[in-house]
Amino acid sequence: MGSVAPNVAELDGSKFNITRSTNLRDVPLPGSPEELSHSHCTDHMVTVKWTAAKGWETPEVKPYQNLSIPPTASVLHYATECFEGMKVYRGYDGKLRLFRPDCNGERLNSSSQRSSLPGFKYDEVKKLVAKLLQIDGPRWLPNPGSFLYIRPTVIGNGPHLGVQVPKEALLFIIAVPWPDFTKMKKDPEAEPRKGLRLYASSPDTIRAWPGGFGYAKLGANYGPSLQAHGKAQALGFDQILWLFGPDRQVTEAGASNFFIIWHNTEGKLELVTAPLENQLILPGVTRRSVLELVRERLSQNFVGKLAPLEAVERTLTIDDIEKASKEGRIVESFVSGTAYFITPVAMIQNENTDINTLGANGEPAGYAAQIKSWLEAIMYGKEEHDWAYTIENEEQ
Ligand SMILES: *Cc1c(COP(=O)(O)O)cnc(C)c1O
Repeated sequence: MGSVAPNVAELDGSKFNITRSTNLRDVPLPGSPEELSHSHCTDHMVTVKWTAAKGWETPEVKPYQNLSIPPTASVLHYATECFEGMKVYRGYDGKLRLFRPDCNGERLNSSSQRSSLPGFKYDEVKKLVAKLLQIDGPRWLPNPGSFLYIRPTVIGNGPHLGVQVPKEALLFIIAVPWPDFTKMKKDPEAEPRKGLRLYASSPDTIRAWPGGFGYAKLGANYGPSLQAHGKAQALGFDQILWLFGPDRQVTEAGASNFFIIWHNTEGKLELVTAPLENQLILPGVTRRSVLELVRERLSQNFVGKLAPLEAVERTLTIDDIEKASKEGRIVESFVSGTAYFITPVAMIQNENTDINTLGANGEPAGYAAQIKSWLEAIMYGKEEHDWAYTIENEEQ
């Protein structure tokens, strides 16, 4: 795996050069403007330099600071960039946990190589993240039941303006307090919302295409999609639902994967989400976990009032959803992703047609809530599970 030649150093997350911050930053209060800014990072960051000649250098932990890169840097001109989105959770038992961090490490490695940046052993990434949290965790994440957002990133920072494969790269990891929207006080005047409102993309705007890079977490997927996102928000929607192809296949929503639960045309209860094979969608860690949990815990037996159902990865179109909605076959729909977790979808607007995606009585059926609570139990250590990676040796 990886583009690393045998005679250059591999990424090694077990050795560090550490420079402590002597000027600790204020920790923002939950719901404060600093927290809502999504930009007030913790005291330290991790950086690792890479060069084609020498490979990966020793990782550094140092005070959070601006990067210095030349105006000619590859990332600024040719979008040689990829990233991950992870969270670290403070468990109810006081321990810090990452959720399936090797999945993120593997995806960062694959995204990095897709953008001509270097590869690495995926399991080193969680060690780098753990080191940062051993130092910043106690002060920045003291309260059980809360989390920080972690952003591992790789950029081509070399100075060569000529179009070429990067010969220099920088991997960095930052951690940032992130508002927990589920805990924020709701405006009592506002109309209660039963789920997200999605705005289906128009045929002249596509997020990803066969042979492209929609399956990799590259900045290059985002910049060009923000125009459509901005338009959707201005019209009062939460996210774009990205459609693809003449048959208007439903791929994913914003930076989240999309799921629908319905009785199919044969009357069978199914959970359907877009497939990975055609490489149009991002293979979400949450998506994969939802599918695995449903197959393991909901495929045979009732869970409370929730009837068993089959999880299928298959192409579905916006017409399929519209028809199911008209025929009253939709049970629930939701999106999944690390940043905004699992959230029901109330409606989709497609070419001026409003499609109701809530269940029969205008409420989500409760599958999303059940899946979310299973995941939370693992993330916050209420349930012992091998998807949780515990960070030991926090520095008090
Ligand atoms: C990150 C991302 C997701 C969600 O992936 P998770 O691993 O579940 O956080 C879904 N779609 C896109 C486009 C993304 O960038």
